[in-house]
Amino acid sequence: MEQKILYDYTHTGIKCPNGITMKLTFNSDRGYVWRCHKSKCCNKSRCSVLFQSFFAERKSTLRDQFIVLYYWLCCKAPRNTITLSTGIHPDTIRGVIDDFYQIMQEDFLSGNQTEEDLKIGKCTS
Ligand SMILES: [Zn+2]
Repeated sequence: MEQKILYDYTHTGIKCPNGITMKLTFNSDRGYVWRCHKSKCCNKSRCSVLFQSFFAERKSTLRDQFIVLYYWLCCKAPRNTITLSTGIHPDTIRGVIDDFYQIMQEDFLSGNQTEEDLKIGKCTS
């Protein structure tokens, strides 16, 4: 699931310093984190769940990014409506939508999706 939502189609997993694929783990103090589970590898190193994801290293907060995507994808709201409803700066809205749209285009062009991946919203059939 996390690879289809947070990362593009080329993503092969988060690697620890020794090249072992890390697993998504829930930590009561830090929430979800990527963590190496191989014993005697890298002292069980861990990193943010957002590491190397679409949401990493953006200027806007994760909350604002999710709000923009919610309004855009679920409500089909125009950008100016998102600004008026949320107070989020138009540059932030443009950046999130343009980047997300680019990821969707690359995913469609890759041919790596299934018919289920192309459906938006509730399936009625
Ligand atoms: Zn490791």
